[in-house]
Amino acid sequence: MHKGSCLCKAVSFEVAGDIPAPDACHCSQCSKWSGHIFVSTDVPRSRVTIHGEDRIKWFQSSEKVRRGFCENCGSSMFWDLVHRDWLGVAMGAFDGPTHTKIHVHGNVASKGDYYEITDAIPQRR
Ligand SMILES: [Zn+2]
Ligand SMILES: [Zn+2]
Repeated sequence: MHKGSCLCKAVSFEVAGDIPAPDACHCSQCSKWSGHIFVSTDVPRSRVTIHGEDRIKWFQSSEKVRRGFCENCGSSMFWDLVHRDWLGVAMGAFDGPTHTKIHVHGNVASKGDYYEITDAIPQRR
């Protein structure tokens, strides 16, 4: 069981079981939404329990994707590919050790010019 919350704690969640290896998305939408790169883990919905769900605002960022954030503090928390039974959960929202490591950098072709990716983790354009 892994717990997490937004900055103001109005929204909290629990993920049952291990956290799957997260990916770091460098696309322009994730950059704008999160303030930098967005690192999230894809978890089956059945393993996620959300408290304070009424405090989540959902922004439809594209036809198939909606992004959930706390209406009070603005923390970016959930990336939801609709019609899919998985939920992307922001790694930065977890409390305590997550016992996992980023396994891939995604959309690196559209990354910002103000940083370099210097680790050995595989990259996808
Ligand atoms: Zn909050
Ligand atoms: Zn992205």
